[in-house]
Parts: sequence; structure tokens; C-alpha cells
Amino acid sequence: MTTAPEAAAPADGLLLPVPDEDGAPFWEYAARGELRVQACTDCGRLRFPPRPCCPHCRSFDSEWRRMSGRGRIWSYVRPHPPLLPAYAAQAPYNVILVELADAPHIRLAGNLVTSADAPLDSMDPARLRIGARVHVAFTELGGISVPRWLLEKS
Ligand SMILES: [Zn+2]
Repeated sequence: MTTAPEAAAPADGLLLPVPDEDGAPFWEYAARGELRVQACTDCGRLRFPPRPCCPHCRSFDSEWRRMSGRGRIWSYVRPHPPLLPAYAAQAPYNVILVELADAPHIRLAGNLVTSADAPLDSMDPARLRIGARVHVAFTELGGISVPRWLLEKS
């Protein structure tokens, strides 16, 4: 029997990731400032979200490959209330889907901010563009290193 993972301590009311067994390495590498994606060691394909079995060749052997941390905005939304109180206080902010430069079929959800530790609403919405180049930066929330995204200088 398995038990549900304990919820992490709240970080000013923001929701925190709850790492499971398959995803735990993602967060351990994030704590070192590394963005890594699970890769099949038999067929070599990258996959996300993490899972035990390769969807392409059904191998159970995998490793975690370091990504460059660069990508492009594939899409975005600007949430408005009603939201949880900690999010409503920062709304409207943005949630972006980033297509990784090293793995264009993998898209990660996150926030575009002006610096890793800046508030969720720190980015001027007029600067949000599909296709804009971004790179990852990590901030600590409730003891967990969380990826955020910064615009590349053009
Ligand atoms: Zn495979």
C-alpha cells in the first residue's frame, strides 16, 4: 500500500508541486539549477511528464538528460479572478507553455517573469508573444526549487 505524498509547506498561499516517485528526479535536478527531462536509454527519446515506461519502445530503462533551458512561448493565458486568494492578489498574471529548444514536442507550463524571484505579475503583458525566446530560471517556493521563465534579451 502506498501513502499519498505529504503536501509541501505553503508558500504565501501559492500551490506547490508534490513530487511523486517518477517525477522526483526532475525536482532534485531543479534544486541544483538544472532543467532535465527523462530520456529512454533504449530508443533515446525524451518524454514528459515522467513515467516508468517508454511510450515508444516500452523500455523501463531511463536517464535524465540536461536541457539547455532555452525554449519558445508556444501559448499563454492570463488568468483573472475568481482564483485562489494568493493568485487573485497577483492577477492578472500569465501562464505560458514553453516549447523546449532541445525537445520541441515537450511543452512545460510556467510563468514568464522579469526575474526568477519576481512576482507572477511582474511581466508587462504587452511583451507576451507566441514564439518569443525564453530561458529557465529557478526560484524557491516553500523549500522546492521551481522553474520560471525569463525573456531572452533580443
Ligand atoms: Zn524507448
